[in-house]
Amino acid sequence: MSSVFVLNQQRAPLDPVHPGRARYLLRAGYAAVWRRYPFTIILKEPQPATPPSPLRLKFDPGSKTTGLAVVNDATGQVVFAAEITHRGQQVRDRLDQRRGVRHSRRSRHTRYRPARFANRRRPAGWLPPSLESRVANVLTWVTRLRRLGPIGAISQELVRFDTQLLQDAEMSGVAYQQGELAGYEVREYLLEKFQRTCAYCGATNTPFEIEHLIPKARGGTDRVSNLALACHACNTAKGTQTATEFGHPDVQRQARTPLKDAAAVNTTRWALWRRLSASGLPVEVGTGGRTKWNRTQRGLPKTHWLDAACVGASTPAQVRITGIVPLRITAQGRHSRQMCRTNAAGVPDKAPKATSVVGDLRTGDLVRAVVPATSVKAGVYVGRLAVRATGSCNLKTATGTIQGIHVRYCQPLQRGDGYSYAIGAALPPHA
Ligand SMILES: [Zn+2]
Repeated sequence: MSSVFVLNQQRAPLDPVHPGRARYLLRAGYAAVWRRYPFTIILKEPQPATPPSPLRLKFDPGSKTTGLAVVNDATGQVVFAAEITHRGQQVRDRLDQRRGVRHSRRSRHTRYRPARFANRRRPAGWLPPSLESRVANVLTWVTRLRRLGPIGAISQELVRFDTQLLQDAEMSGVAYQQGELAGYEVREYLLEKFQRTCAYCGATNTPFEIEHLIPKARGGTDRVSNLALACHACNTAKGTQTATEFGHPDVQRQARTPLKDAAAVNTTRWALWRRLSASGLPVEVGTGGRTKWNRTQRGLPKTHWLDAACVGASTPAQVRITGIVPLRITAQGRHSRQMCRTNAAGVPDKAPKATSVVGDLRTGDLVRAVVPATSVKAGVYVGRLAVRATGSCNLKTATGTIQGIHVRYCQPLQRGDGYSYAIGAALPPHA
């Protein structure tokens, strides 16, 4: 079971508790609900000051989804797990749209003004807005979770493979060994080097095999410079031939050229790491190879949140995940900045942007609507509110959007915070 976060009267985080314990505290009137997602309660009585046991916040930053897990290092228990879906593509699309509108307006109204587009300077550490939004999403959740749980340390997956270990892997002769940690680092390195394609036929999205250019049967070594990535068909077809005999001298050459350091650098992850390091908490970094090795050693299936739980050398020998269901967090953004909607040509042809606030509710609030039996829409709904100026709003529920729910029937459960929430599917019992 995912634990429930607990705050004391001063809103300082205490040890998270079992949901059963939280239910008891709520029912007996010792606590009140502080937040629905992630579920957090606040105690009403003063507590003896015993310091809570520190937890580790671990995450695996991805381009579309970031896995996140709060783990108790001492017990190996995963306390909380989540997967954040970013909105990088949406940010990009919105900016493209804005550029189009501005371009069109400019050519309509100020045609003879000299162009000025190459006169901006970017500050150091600047990231494109779509990437910046990803970094901001993760930082937001680090800050929020630090307010809810006693987070004492952070672990982040920083690079795909250990650059130190493999910096001149080709020369120093780090050897590939199946099942070893170094083997996993080599595998990640090869995936990066051959850009996740079969070196011979160029196939992608297929299970890859590590292939010896000079076959082992003919004295080929396990050194990285003798390894390539191949699909099963090519590996079988090549058999005991060398790459050159198989008609691919290019692969032989490519394998001998070490991967440039720059190829392993991921701007977003490094930016995240720099900003987290400034947070004052110790930040442990791990490699993708290590994550995969940890996860495989512990027999855990591949999901974003389990990858997060397996980041870094601090991963407990046994990661306990029974009953843990990740919270699915989706970045939603906050409103549109466009004051007036336009047609495809960029000409404003619709009514100006209407209000996003009606009464004390605003777009993005999680509300519970109890519509009386006299109404056509009679029933009880829980969902994310989209405000309409008339007061007759849309409600995005787990099963779909319901239109025409009046705000007078709605009670806020949690104020809009830029994200929407859903409870993810549990792992199958055998996993
Ligand atoms: Zn192939």
